[in-house]
Amino acid sequence: MDLTHSPADEAFRAEARTWLGAHVPARPLPSLETAEGFAAHRAWEAELGADRWSVVSWPAAYGGRDCGLVRWLLFEEEYYAAGAPGRVGQNGVSLLAPTLLVHGTEEQRVRILPPMARGEVVWAQAWSEPEAGSDLASLRSRAVRTDGGWLLSGQKTWSSRAAFADRAFGLFRSEPDMPKPHQGLTYLMFDLRAPGVTVRPIGRLDGKPAFAEIFLDEVFVPDEDVIGGPGRGWRIAMSTAGDERGLTLRSPGRFLASADRLAALWHGRGRDPFTRDRVADAVIGARAYQLFTYAAASRFLDGEALGPESSLNKVFWSEYDVALHETALDLLGADGEPADGDWAEGYLFSLAGPIYAGTNEIQRDIIAERLLGLPRGRR
Ligand SMILES: Cc1cc2nc3c(=O)[nH]c(=O)nc-3n(C[C@H](O)[C@H](O)[C@H](O)COP(=O)(O)OP(=O)(O)OC[C@H]3O[C@@H](n4cnc5c(N)ncnc54)[C@H](O)[C@@H]3O)c2cc1C
Repeated sequence: MDLTHSPADEAFRAEARTWLGAHVPARPLPSLETAEGFAAHRAWEAELGADRWSVVSWPAAYGGRDCGLVRWLLFEEEYYAAGAPGRVGQNGVSLLAPTLLVHGTEEQRVRILPPMARGEVVWAQAWSEPEAGSDLASLRSRAVRTDGGWLLSGQKTWSSRAAFADRAFGLFRSEPDMPKPHQGLTYLMFDLRAPGVTVRPIGRLDGKPAFAEIFLDEVFVPDEDVIGGPGRGWRIAMSTAGDERGLTLRSPGRFLASADRLAALWHGRGRDPFTRDRVADAVIGARAYQLFTYAAASRFLDGEALGPESSLNKVFWSEYDVALHETALDLLGADGEPADGDWAEGYLFSLAGPIYAGTNEIQRDIIAERLLGLPRGRR
């Protein structure tokens, strides 16, 4: 693989760097897990969207720049190097949008993608249920046919930012008598403020109030908000899950920037000899992840499906993130104690990485069985 970028790609990178240099807020925005921070991040999405930087890889018709994966990776490197804010629209941009681009109708794409790109409609992922996390197919929330649409009832849980988001996408059991649990599911979008919806915040370790559970009591959803047709939900959901674990949710740009910050912290703290090897590991790990992602992107561009390889990605970035933050806290010692410090906050969030987007135990099973061809484990 040739890792030299073309002059046109480098010109794109330079354009992104110039724009970010002129627009990234001088001070960090408040946490997007709070009402105030959510509003500030939404305004930032609007600013990005106005100049078509919020979703560079999307078609221009929906608010993007028609860029391929490589330019998206370059943009992400510049974005995080510039210290730009975390993306409040991430669930919509990284999960729902790729699903709509493949499985949605043109009417859905035209209606849903441009407001998402401008941060006007922020989406939550409503998949997990109290008895259906790793075993997602055992979900019980149902969609019952009614005139012109569906009535949704049941409970979703662990929904990131649902307390402040506008809409959600999730799976519902529409044909309860099918022989297998993953059959008879329908993938639907719904309003979080529709009659019959109750959103209740769940306390997180860091005390921020955006994480929530969602209760649904005969919530009406029109037919136009079914993705991929009734009963086809599982296949569509597996396509979303590949995106969640694969290339798009955690781009290497973010870790390259974190590794740089860690290295700067280490230099600023007298080049502490006890953490030196771990800091070096973090810097090497970020670079390795970058190269792994470029390799995966080039295979994808050559027409190969990524498939179970996404699970390798997910295990890597989630464990890397924990190790990087632990190293920073060890370096900081007592100075890292305040729970609202940057590194401490990042550490608390990193602890969730091996759980969300499919736990790492489940990812390891997928790697063992589907990539390494080992026998199926006991369930
Ligand atoms: C910070 C955070 C944000 C999240 N955001 C969202 C969101 O926005 N939307 C959403 O829908 N969900 C979200 N989730 C939920 C997340 O996807 C689930 O927590 C996850 O899928 C695990 O499900 P569970 O919590 O029900 O645990 P369980 O499935 O009950 O698992 C408990 C433990 O048992 C292990 N285990 C279970 N089955 C197996 C098996 N077959 N083999 C080996 N080990 C197994 C698991 O790995 C885990 O360690 C979020 C979770 C967190 C922590």
